Amino acid sequence: MPARFDKLKRKGVAQREEAARPIKDLRKRLIKSIDLLDANLGVPVWDGKKNALEVLVLTILSQNTTDPNALRGYENLARLYPAKHKSGKDASALPRDAAGNVDKVAIRLSDAAKAVEPPDWVRVAELPQRKIADAIRAAGLPDSKSGAILSLLHWLRDDVGEFALEPVLDQHGEAGTVEMLSAIKGIGVKTVSVTLIEALGADLCPVDTHVHRVINRLGIVDTKTNRDKTFALIKDMIPKGRAFALHHNLLTFGRTVCTAKSPTCGDCFLRRLCPSAKVFA
Ligand code: SF4
Repeated sequence: MPARFDKLKRKGVAQREEAARPIKDLRKRLIKSIDLLDANLGVPVWDGKKNALEVLVLTILSQNTTDPNALRGYENLARLYPAKHKSGKDASALPRDAAGNVDKVAIRLSDAAKAVEPPDWVRVAELPQRKIADAIRAAGLPDSKSGAILSLLHWLRDDVGEFALEPVLDQHGEAGTVEMLSAIKGIGVKTVSVTLIEALGADLCPVDTHVHRVINRLGIVDTKTNRDKTFALIKDMIPKGRAFALHHNLLTFGRTVCTAKSPTCGDCFLRRLCPSAKVFA
């Protein structure tokens, strides 16, 4: 697997293990796929708790752009509206390249949430949207992203009573939190579920373009372009405790083997259980 796709800690030694035959039962096919992804790629390991609001804002900023751009927008917001009380985070802990700049390849938003001091959310919530848009411009789509951030902060201030997502999760659980947050304009199901797995280790498999494509090609769902439907359908099919690894392994697998344009089916360890293998043969 190319190093640039493998930013995660993994446990287990990756070894070549292949599917032996087709499997009709869709849940069993999914479970076998999970087993084979774990065996061939290793099991990605969650890197521990982070502040969920910080991860969510970083994830909003990362929509349709790279992680380094999202980080630039976030750092600028924090520089202009710094928190009064520092939490002791150290941005020098971010992965750096030889020139000392943030490593564009190795950076993950999880690292950013652990290393970068957040803005003063109380202050940001009182700003006119235009000022937030100006501050985060480096992340792109400043109008829609500033609108989503402001709506989120207003909802936390007015309905939750504090600038934190952990109480929402405690009170409403994973499914309820996904539902409530994704009702805010500009925050989708994928953005919330990514936040919950990265920040709090939730047992969910967010569905991005790679997860959606591979799960459909494997014939486990038939959801055309509707990623949220894929998320809803596979949620209850995934064995407990295995969704985080599935999400990350499908990302890696979708970028390296089952790519959008040229899947390498002939060399794919899932090919004997994948109904799409003959389509690309
Ligand atoms: S056999 Fe082809 S389509 Fe099926 S999972 Fe493997 S690479 Fe993707």
